[in-house]
Amino acid sequence: MKTIGIIGGMSWESTLEYYRIMNETVKERLGGLHSAKLLMYSVDFAEIRGDMLAGDWDGAGERLAKAARALEKGGADLLLIATNTLHKVAPRVEAAVSIPLLHIAEASADAVLDAGLTRIGLLGTAFTMEQDFYTARLAARGIDALVPPEADRRLIDRVIFDEMCKGVFTDEARAEFLRVIGGLTALGAQGIVLGCTEIGILVRPGDTDVPLFDTCLIHATRAVDLAL
Ligand code: GLU
Repeated sequence: MKTIGIIGGMSWESTLEYYRIMNETVKERLGGLHSAKLLMYSVDFAEIRGDMLAGDWDGAGERLAKAARALEKGGADLLLIATNTLHKVAPRVEAAVSIPLLHIAEASADAVLDAGLTRIGLLGTAFTMEQDFYTARLAARGIDALVPPEADRRLIDRVIFDEMCKGVFTDEARAEFLRVIGGLTALGAQGIVLGCTEIGILVRPGDTDVPLFDTCLIHATRAVDLAL
């Protein structure tokens, strides 16, 4: 089994899910007492959020590159950045190490295409929904991404940073997310990419009939596929 290196803590609420999913997946596949071999470098998310708000992506990129180098040195065979948004600096992280980076948008694109879909709704931080570092990856694979209208993008971004990244998951927020999902579906989305690693904690497959692509689940499971 290969050793998975996780750059986590963005937020730690979703990094916990990565840890759980990876171990459950290894257990499912290998049985017995088997569990995932992994190393984690968990950042102080306040520092990263500070970089984001200052528009200092070089600073955020350097913090994550440092984490990546430490994981490689520690013996990681492959690398994950356990958040969608910080894939904005994925090229810098990738350039800092010689081990492969499993890109969350590529893993998600695989899952969407495997389900036979080409037009999805994308929920995530404002950065993920509005900039092209994520949607361009999907577009390059032939997937068209619809995003919610401005006011709903603001709402979702606020819930991510002010609530979910602080461990607050409410019925009110779930109802709002389901309303937004309904709007995207009405516009032709065949499925919804939960392009923020905390959203899968809030919205579960049983909450809607629309196919959901939980990027945390997809990314963590794909990493185990590569490790075994
Ligand atoms: N975990 C989130 C994501 O997947 C948002 C927090 C962050 O900006 O990293 O994008």
